[in-house]
Amino acid sequence: MELLQRAGTAMEASGDRFDVIVVGAGIMGSCAAYEAAKRGRRVLLLEQFDFLHCLGSSHGESRTIRAAYTKDFYPSMVLESRRLWEAAQSEIGYRVLTDTSHLDIGPAGSSSLQSVLSCCKQQSSLNMRLLDRPALAEMFSGTFRLPEGWIGVGSDVGGVIKPTKAVAMFQALAVRRGAVLKDHTRVTDIKRDEEGRSLRVATAGGSAFSAKKCVVTVGAWMRKLVKEVSGVDLPIRPLHTTACYWKIKQGHEKELSVEGGFPTFDSCGEIHAYGTPSMEFPGLIKINSDGGNPCDPDGRDWTLGASGVLVDAVGSWIEQILPGIVEAEKPVMTQSCMYSMTPDKDFVIDFLGGEFGEDVVVAGGFSGHGFKMGPLVGKILAELAIDGEAAGVEMKHFRIGRFAEEAASSHADS
Ligand SMILES: Cc1cc2nc3c(=O)[nH]c(=O)nc-3n(C[C@H](O)[C@H](O)[C@H](O)COP(=O)(O)OP(=O)(O)OC[C@H]3O[C@@H](n4cnc5c(N)ncnc54)[C@H](O)[C@@H]3O)c2cc1C
Repeated sequence: MELLQRAGTAMEASGDRFDVIVVGAGIMGSCAAYEAAKRGRRVLLLEQFDFLHCLGSSHGESRTIRAAYTKDFYPSMVLESRRLWEAAQSEIGYRVLTDTSHLDIGPAGSSSLQSVLSCCKQQSSLNMRLLDRPALAEMFSGTFRLPEGWIGVGSDVGGVIKPTKAVAMFQALAVRRGAVLKDHTRVTDIKRDEEGRSLRVATAGGSAFSAKKCVVTVGAWMRKLVKEVSGVDLPIRPLHTTACYWKIKQGHEKELSVEGGFPTFDSCGEIHAYGTPSMEFPGLIKINSDGGNPCDPDGRDWTLGASGVLVDAVGSWIEQILPGIVEAEKPVMTQSCMYSMTPDKDFVIDFLGGEFGEDVVVAGGFSGHGFKMGPLVGKILAELAIDGEAAGVEMKHFRIGRFAEEAASSHADS
């Protein structure tokens, strides 16, 4: 609250002209505002709802950080982002990230397990290792019961981030660096001013702000806002999903905890199940499948049935892999959230182009795996907005143009 009051005071002092306006105060926008303010720019961060609301994608109690990826450009990005998480924690003086190990499990022939192994072998700091059933049983004291023919891939780099606390941390750091934060301010339009030299950002309340550069990080609202503002139709699909917490059977609480050595995990059998050690709610553990149903972010059906999450399938997974350890009948607590999916599940981070050229930068479509990357994405966005290029990251995987190129090549192939 004190921070927001300070932010309000700064707002009056700085008027309506900024170097960079960031639209959307989830993890990406909050990190981008911090990084741009750290570079000495006058920054305004605008949010349509309350700060730290639960209506987007960056709220709740846990997000996994893992470097085990099936595409080879992500592990080094995770390691760089992790370094930035540590730096932010040092600057603020408290922690939002708890280190754990990470475990992938699945059938030995699974292409995604094999891809994880081959993509991560370049990064020796991950200490990736193949675990057969006896090795896995020894490492986790028999907690995971793998079916015949399954294997594990262990890594030293895992962890749990507290998302709401992490967003608050970056907002506090941004304010400390002089950024102005304003909630209950929905952006309705972005235009060039009459001379074409700066951008005019209009809001639903009738106010307007101007800036040299604008960064748009509006999560599940990305397709709607970008289309309204520029006519560009980004293939980003919002999905409504639900995080599920399950009751741990009495006497097993310790072995599923961070202190007991329990890892963050992904399982790639018939369903993709994933989870984090028991931390946020004593006696409960988060285990999800990564499904979701298409939704309008402004008109969601909040029921569990509408979330597309395969609750029964997760229950069966629990009975098979953690038998006698977790109650598999039904989750005892749930929390709704939204994914923003791209067709290839890679992010969109690019200049908007067209009449906006390099003055508007967009970042969305984080496809259910973006939170861990927040600090790095924030740095990339600040660099794109201020320097016109991002240092040390191959941006071709995240360009808007790839969708049209892919569509054209699949058309040519058919
Ligand atoms: C259940 C679940 C589990 C996940 N687990 C993981 C995980 O383990 N690891 C991981 O790395 N990632 C995970 N993710 C993904 C991660 O949480 C998201 O990629 C990330 O939070 C996206 O952040 P964002 O800032 O893009 O979007 P958001 O957090 O939604 O932020 C966008 C903000 O923009 C605001 N906004 C929208 N329109 C406007 C407007 N017109 N004007 C002003 N403000 C506007 C919204 O209100 C919102 O606050 C998970 C996601 C879900 C749903």
